[in-house]
Amino acid sequence: MNRRTAIHTIATATAALASRDLVAQAAAPAVHKLPPLGYDFDALEPVIDAQTMQIHHDKHHAAYVAKLNEALTQAPDLAGKSAEDLLKHLDEIPEAIRTAVRNNGGGHANHTHFWQVLKKGSGGPQGALLKAIEKNFGSFAKWQEAFSAAAMKQFGSGWGWLVLRAGKLTIETTANQDTPLSTGGVPILGVDVWEHAYYLKYQNRRADYLKAIQDVINWEYVGTLHSQSAK
Ligand code: MN
Repeated sequence: MNRRTAIHTIATATAALASRDLVAQAAAPAVHKLPPLGYDFDALEPVIDAQTMQIHHDKHHAAYVAKLNEALTQAPDLAGKSAEDLLKHLDEIPEAIRTAVRNNGGGHANHTHFWQVLKKGSGGPQGALLKAIEKNFGSFAKWQEAFSAAAMKQFGSGWGWLVLRAGKLTIETTANQDTPLSTGGVPILGVDVWEHAYYLKYQNRRADYLKAIQDVINWEYVGTLHSQSAK
């Protein structure tokens, strides 16, 4: 092979690779990406076991992201929007993909939030958030009790939430992957009560999971979400 042929061969191969990339992008724009967990799978042991964290993040969350991207190939106009933006305006999503975006966009946003509100040894709420909790629920202990009770009562799969709604803290639950964002609330703490979040370690004992998870809430981060939203 002389030099000119070699250059031509390389150029052709590069062009072929580039066009193949373009075709792949056109077929399935990976708009949304699985965020890294941000800590090791075993970081929350023994409250949440490493295997649960790995399957939950690498399989469940990844599947929501993939299915959200798949649905959005039918609505290229929505490509630039964050999952949160999509969920705040579900009525603006084309009907053919609205349920898929609600479920999988919700799954993506909810889990992205969930990984960040978990941390070992971060104590309890402080400052303005603690004051707001005391004002709305009497005390932090009473809030803990009320939150667990609400999350316990969520029938089937869903989430327990601490929400800032119209300037007030509320405890709410949603079914499936629905989020308070879709009804005008700002979720500042969400706890996953799907069985996939706890079944390997707690089996049917959701109450034990809810009690234990109170020890790994990242109250510093929740406090930041509260102060950002309470402005
Ligand atoms: Mn989950």
